[in-house]
Amino acid sequence: MNVQANFEGIRANINQACKRAGRNPDEITVIAVTKYVTIERAKEAIEAGVTNLGENRLEGFKEKYHALDSLATWHFIGSLQSRKVKELISEVDFIHSLDRLSLAKEINKRADEPVSCFVQINVSGEESKHGIHPDKVHTFIEELSKYENIKVVGLMTMAPFINDEAVIRSTFKDLRLLRDEIRDKQFAHAPCPYLSMGMSNDYSIAIEEGATHIRIGSKLVGSSN
Ligand SMILES: *Cc1c(COP(=O)(O)O)cnc(C)c1O
Repeated sequence: MNVQANFEGIRANINQACKRAGRNPDEITVIAVTKYVTIERAKEAIEAGVTNLGENRLEGFKEKYHALDSLATWHFIGSLQSRKVKELISEVDFIHSLDRLSLAKEINKRADEPVSCFVQINVSGEESKHGIHPDKVHTFIEELSKYENIKVVGLMTMAPFINDEAVIRSTFKDLRLLRDEIRDKQFAHAPCPYLSMGMSNDYSIAIEEGATHIRIGSKLVGSSN
């Protein structure tokens, strides 16, 4: 399927989910996750009107960025090694995977101006997953205030890879409640209006639970060339 047709289908689902939740579709940013596909395919997404692109690895990020640079807004959504920060810091618009102070310190050091970051949360607390444990989020975000080049714009999570809608929904809901708590504190460095959650198989649920940024790869641009 071409990206345009995929996007039309996704947009219809977004509208329906927003209607069910009493939300405005304009609140939802669709990030095309282009990690599986070519530069050409990423360009098709831009031409279809999806101008936010996301990559989870530095190599893929740089490849797409250098080809398409000024045409898109750039999201880094994968786990990020501190030593690689300097290679993407002047190119990235949003980092979705801030999950430790050592990474914050490196971003702070390398950036010339505040970088919009989502703090990645491991909502379910599973050992194997990246992200801050929910019990530690408040302390973590308070500690980030000492880094003048970190701006916390939201929280991000990945739902567990299972087919149980109730579990997925409660993961998203828990992230929203955490976000509300942080937002209510009105920290200058962490206004935290956004929620990055929902992928190809669960974005409708994520929107019903408050997502503002959905990250869609396979159902939008495909999962291979
Ligand atoms: C790959 C990836 C996605 C998109 O996955 P799909 O299921 O193909 O939509 C979203 N978020 C992150 C962090 C990813 O790594």
